[in-house]
Amino acid sequence: MSTQRKIILAGNWKMHKTVKESIELAQCVEEKLSKLPITVLLFPPFTAIYAVSKSLKWHIGIGGQNMYYEKEGAFTGEISPVMLKEAGAEYVIIGHSERRNIFNEKDQLLNKKVHSAIENALNVVLCVGEKLEERKSNRTKEVIEREIKEDLQGIKKQDLEKIIIAYEPIWAIGTGITAKPEEVAEVHRFIRTLLDDMFGKGAGSNMTILYGGSIKPNNIKSLADMNEIDGGLVGGASLQCESFYTIGKILSEVKA
Ligand code: PEP
Repeated sequence: MSTQRKIILAGNWKMHKTVKESIELAQCVEEKLSKLPITVLLFPPFTAIYAVSKSLKWHIGIGGQNMYYEKEGAFTGEISPVMLKEAGAEYVIIGHSERRNIFNEKDQLLNKKVHSAIENALNVVLCVGEKLEERKSNRTKEVIEREIKEDLQGIKKQDLEKIIIAYEPIWAIGTGITAKPEEVAEVHRFIRTLLDDMFGKGAGSNMTILYGGSIKPNNIKSLADMNEIDGGLVGGASLQCESFYTIGKILSEVKA
């Protein structure tokens, strides 16, 4: 494996946790996962980012679950990259399927967000993934290709190190259905080939690519066993310290 790839466990808390609950969970994660040889990222709700980042001693990367691409302005309800950074975020998730599908975010908008995040020194976790009907009609690669090409349009090769890709098949998110490790590995390989074509040789093999979709303590091992999978973006199971820790422990044992 290339040295530029990292083993990452990321917890996306979605619209869960008050400020108090966020601090408690983040401190438990810090205490339990700080000895593991992996990078840990937490994505609390916006309201808790500042408090969580202030409450931690060990380095856990904190991020926003979304952002708007402008620095400031009349955009009621939105959060800017500058605000995220000031609150203590170093990362931002862009293109989560819940943003794409519930809030109708399109690739053109997501591309502006990726550019803005990088210009404002935030690392990006770019989520891509197909719907069930797209997989069933053999359109997975077509969808992934469109998302990667459009979302990363105009990005410079040297900026790829600020980007992590999370492959999250939409049918596996929050459903309890996990994609088969071999199916995930195939898509990850496809993404690496695509990146080589877009940015030149080596771009794909250097990219950290996570899997997301119903990761639990009882399925992480078979996913982590795949060389192509560099870690996980975890929703539901990141809301409890114990299950997130168990996932992190197994991930680090497999990848060590
Ligand atoms: C997610 O929110 O990105 C996710 C993968 O959720 P879950 O683990 O609950 O499927």
